[in-house]
Amino acid sequence: MSLDLKSSKASVVEARNLKKSYRQGDRDVQVLKGLNLDIHSGDCVALLGASGSGKSTLLHLIGALDRGESGELKVLNTNLASLKDSQRADFRLQNIGFVFQFHHLIPELTALENVCLPAALKGKKSEARGLELLDWMGLSGRVYSRPYQMSGGEQQRVALARALVNDPKLLLTDEATGNLDRERAAEVLEILFKANRELGTTLISVTHDADLAGKYARTLRLNDGLI
Ligand code: ADP
Ligand code: MG
Repeated sequence: MSLDLKSSKASVVEARNLKKSYRQGDRDVQVLKGLNLDIHSGDCVALLGASGSGKSTLLHLIGALDRGESGELKVLNTNLASLKDSQRADFRLQNIGFVFQFHHLIPELTALENVCLPAALKGKKSEARGLELLDWMGLSGRVYSRPYQMSGGEQQRVALARALVNDPKLLLTDEATGNLDRERAAEVLEILFKANRELGTTLISVTHDADLAGKYARTLRLNDGLI
């Protein structure tokens, strides 16, 4: 009898020989050069690398926002290459939360309406959950404020609540604290870690900031198209 000593944690991201290039003018620039990557359920990972090293490219592939060109990429045991565009959109809606550097909140909507939007797309009522998340973010006094009435840190925490409203298994952030001062950045980071700890959300955060990356349980570095 053989004992399976592999990690008992479920695989969330499995990349094998993943490649991606872009057409720039009359030449192809290869950004990802056949990388391998394993991320498991509950992981708290910083993806570090110089500007232009392909961090966002990789995150967009993992989040099914873009397609790889060769190699294998499984996210939550789904082979992303096999999905049609409509299935990819559904896959994102069901499984993934995103937070970008810019909050992308809808200016006409209140904080609560912004937070509840992804749930509405699933045909789900989520006001109670939205209020709970805003409270969790320290924003219970901001529920009916519109984005322009809030500070950068508050806007980013609303974006974070919105990313969590559908209880995604995977939370992806791309320089999410890039526009914030140190103190505000630390607050947002604490909330990301809280979601990882208390909700069990697998977290992958892209950053070029080594100090920030050092706060994560695990750091991966993207260098010359490889991890
Ligand atoms: P990072 O997030 O690490 O700064 P990116 O993934 O955004 O890096 O970009 C990696 C490289 O790919 C850069 O050289 C960038 O110019 C190029 N690139 C990214 N997106 C595109 C695109 N849509 N079309 C052409 N080139 C792109
Ligand atoms: Mg980037």
